[in-house]
Amino acid sequence: MDNGKNNEGPTKGRDLFKLLWRGSTKACPLCGQRKLFKKWVHMESNCPRCKLHFERIEGHWIGAVGINTIVSFLLLVIGLAIFFYATYPNIPTGRWVFWFAACFGAIPILFYPNSKTLWTAIDILMRPIEERDFKTGKGDDFVNIQEVLPSEVGENL
Ligand SMILES: [Zn+2]
Repeated sequence: MDNGKNNEGPTKGRDLFKLLWRGSTKACPLCGQRKLFKKWVHMESNCPRCKLHFERIEGHWIGAVGINTIVSFLLLVIGLAIFFYATYPNIPTGRWVFWFAACFGAIPILFYPNSKTLWTAIDILMRPIEERDFKTGKGDDFVNIQEVLPSEVGENL
């Protein structure tokens, strides 16, 4: 579980790429664990493998909304540019516009889970991992909870 905990000094280029790749592919940025989402939108609050608490500070997910907005608009601009370039000078209107809008309206929904893990990766690059990132807001230590017998877990939560 020393993943990322010895995250001292400047992040190396390879680590940076690895963090961003894991983040943009819905994996835990720290350990690469997948299956963090249920029914597309429900994200585990802690990584099942490395126990990283994803909502590192209150308001953490505002960044994910920002990332989702940036990516969606970027793709919209690129898509429109290609569309206009390919069809110029007879740019089609009418029902094409509705198809185009419908396709791009789906991007923020499709990218929603990726935006959360990607933002967590960017956040880790800006604010290196600390000991407290592996604990809940209640001050419970997840490592100790894992070692407790199942019958005693309820008393500790
Ligand atoms: Zn993890």
